[in-house]
Amino acid sequence: MGAALPQLTVGVLALQGAFSNHLSILATLGVEGRAVRLPVDLEGVDGLVLPGGESTTMSMLLDSSGLREPIAELLERGLPVLGTCAGLILLSRRVRDGRADQRGFGVLDVETTRNAYGRQNESFESTVDLRAQGSIPGIFIRAPRIVEVGPGVEVLGTLHGEPVLVRDGVAIGCAFHPELSGDATVHRLLIDQIGRSLTTVADASQED
Ligand code: GLN
Repeated sequence: MGAALPQLTVGVLALQGAFSNHLSILATLGVEGRAVRLPVDLEGVDGLVLPGGESTTMSMLLDSSGLREPIAELLERGLPVLGTCAGLILLSRRVRDGRADQRGFGVLDVETTRNAYGRQNESFESTVDLRAQGSIPGIFIRAPRIVEVGPGVEVLGTLHGEPVLVRDGVAIGCAFHPELSGDATVHRLLIDQIGRSLTTVADASQED
């Protein structure tokens, strides 16, 4: 086992959508979740969650709240991030069936198609197979489909053989709603990534 981590703070974008369950699940993991509505809320966060909701609305609200630039800067500097459903769309490098004016952060080298698993009333719960081992529940609500993954992207989970949980460096994307199932596996992936990132930063500073 590695050294104990300091108290971690994970920001959860809280402009719109399904953010509150993310805060609760982070609390069960002993991590402080912080609702992010304004740029000042990003101060000192160790990681970030972009929740499900409506990516077109979130894109507009990212501009009006002034959050777009500070988040883009943090992601560029390597802040670990988890994007679920609409959040996955916001992280994707390429989006199909998006609105012309919607913009994301492009840190995950995947192409996603919005609403490709059907409409709200075609929402479903299924089992996501994990590459590592076992399976977890997946609740899909107007979920995006990951239709292409870049060469550096790891597929961590699949539904009927298609990628639904992916990682590209410090960015994790998930087509379903992990905060609704009571299973904390996906959030743990983010916390583990934060741990690795903090260790790397500490190692690098010792080399100076
Ligand atoms: N279809 C939504 C979008 O395009 C995502 C749905 C969700 O987050 N549950 O943003």
